Amino acid sequence: MKGPNDVGSEAAEPDAASEELDPLLIIQEQFDRARAHLTGFKRGLIEFFQVPKRSISVCFPVEMEDGSVRTFHGYRVLHNRALGPGKGGIRYHPEVTEREVAALAALMTWKCAIVKVPFGGAKGGVVCDPKELTETDLRRITRRFVHELGDNLGPHTDIPAPDLYTTEQTMAWIFDTYDILHPGENNRPVVTGKPLDLGGSVGRRAATGYGAFLVTERYLEVAPLQDFTSLRNARVAIQGFGQVGLAAAEAFRDAGARIVALSDSQGAIHREEGLDLAAVVAHKREHGTLVGLPETRTLTNEDLLLLDCDILIPAALGNQIRADNAAKIRARLVVEAANAPTTPAADDILRERGVIVVPDILVNAGGVTVSYFEWVQNIENEEWDLEEVNARLRRRLRRGTRQ
Ligand code: NAD
Repeated sequence: MKGPNDVGSEAAEPDAASEELDPLLIIQEQFDRARAHLTGFKRGLIEFFQVPKRSISVCFPVEMEDGSVRTFHGYRVLHNRALGPGKGGIRYHPEVTEREVAALAALMTWKCAIVKVPFGGAKGGVVCDPKELTETDLRRITRRFVHELGDNLGPHTDIPAPDLYTTEQTMAWIFDTYDILHPGENNRPVVTGKPLDLGGSVGRRAATGYGAFLVTERYLEVAPLQDFTSLRNARVAIQGFGQVGLAAAEAFRDAGARIVALSDSQGAIHREEGLDLAAVVAHKREHGTLVGLPETRTLTNEDLLLLDCDILIPAALGNQIRADNAAKIRARLVVEAANAPTTPAADDILRERGVIVVPDILVNAGGVTVSYFEWVQNIENEEWDLEEVNARLRRRLRRGTRQ
């Protein structure tokens, strides 16, 4: 275990455009900007929020399905527990770093506070490429990672959830591993985003994407843009077509918006008249990508960001809107469904150009909100229906947006 100021040794490579892209430095800069608006806090207390409370770095060997043995690195960072137990997703991605995980853990602290969920901020990750791993490999990596973290996870201490390339199945493995280590206890609240049969909540899978829609809808009520007060016929471009991108696309479509572009890691598709989401899902299921769907134009992910549209929703990776492309963004509203998709320099450029950025810590807070509902249901041995979950989600996100 490391001290609070030792988070990772790997600083980011200087960027060609000389923009700082190190995720932890970016989050710290954003916090510095926000703290200018905070009054009445003692200096030492503010400093406490600038560094993670705890950072765990583990390394473990796994025997792969093909008989080889590989060593993996994993991280779990607890940023702050002032409001309650740590809460935050675990991501599996080849580019995971301890600094990125620490930055995302801090975002979780602010996110929970905005929607008044009684959790603190945490995040985890394992450096691996899920696309090259079998299901057996992923199960073994997950079990071993949870075992390494031991009692640093717990229903009242630190509670994981899904994130990039982790799913309900991953959460089921986390629950099962923890449950074996703690027999005879109600261990279901140790992880959220579980399958329904294991105590998951209805509405959790769609919560983040649906929440992005609820926040946007409320934002336009509170601060209407000139000539743009309703989502009906709004042209929406979404980067990413995973759990968040798909649910956001469905919610915006159901409100009458036109989804003009979507993307995955292999590229983007564009259709000005609007995409048929059922056809996109079917194509992705059959071909492993949405690229190549008939009657669509193929674009790069970069092209998608620069499309002429009303709402741009980055719902994939961080640092997508940077100093080198922000001046070319043509959307009127950027709705940050992904974590940290816009750099501080890009934020400045967009603000100067009058492009509104609705921030990640609000836009994607629907996920942690329904995770909290799942946790409450698990503790109380209750099961709420979708109507109740979504009504509660709507109330919290509308209140958070207003604030
Ligand atoms: P996911 O793994 O389900 O989907 C990720 C999507 O991003 C996939 O469509 C993938 O093809 C795409 N992608 C990967 N690399 C890309 C690239 N280089 N360019 C464009 N697209 C690329 O993940 P998710 O759960 O949908 O999470 C998406 C984002 O939302 C992440 O930033 C995550 O941190 C954030 N988020 C997720 C949740 C949640 O509840 N799942 C909650 C809060 C925030």
